[in-house]
Amino acid sequence: MSMKFSIPKTWRERKPHYLLEATKCKNCGKIHYPPRTVCDKCGSRDLERTRLSGEGRIVSYTVQYVVLDGFRDYAPIIYAIVELKEGVRVLAPLTDVKPGDVKIGLKVKAVLRKVSEDGKLGLIRYAIKFKPLEAESQK
Ligand SMILES: [Zn+2]
Repeated sequence: MSMKFSIPKTWRERKPHYLLEATKCKNCGKIHYPPRTVCDKCGSRDLERTRLSGEGRIVSYTVQYVVLDGFRDYAPIIYAIVELKEGVRVLAPLTDVKPGDVKIGLKVKAVLRKVSEDGKLGLIRYAIKFKPLEAESQK
């Protein structure tokens, strides 16, 4: 048996809808991302799973020109703090946008993108990135 089969399936294939899963407090309505078991606002344990829209606006960003080995094809990497419609802030890299086109207030949408690949092990890792909504409507 090759190495390939020893890697848990969940590692190789992370489903997109798990990545923006949050909890909502049934008592006070606060949304937590990542999910919590106890509400940090009112202390209630009566929480329900909810899925975030993935749409929001950039509230802050930084451009990183120096990146780690294995990620050079992706440089520069633009990291942004995005405030989602639900009021939750998420830190993630941007994709499909040049550094000069990024600005505070830009509307973005979460997408799932491959971040690295190890051909030998058959390992592919995915992560949430944000892409401008405008870019999508131009297609
Ligand atoms: Zn609460």
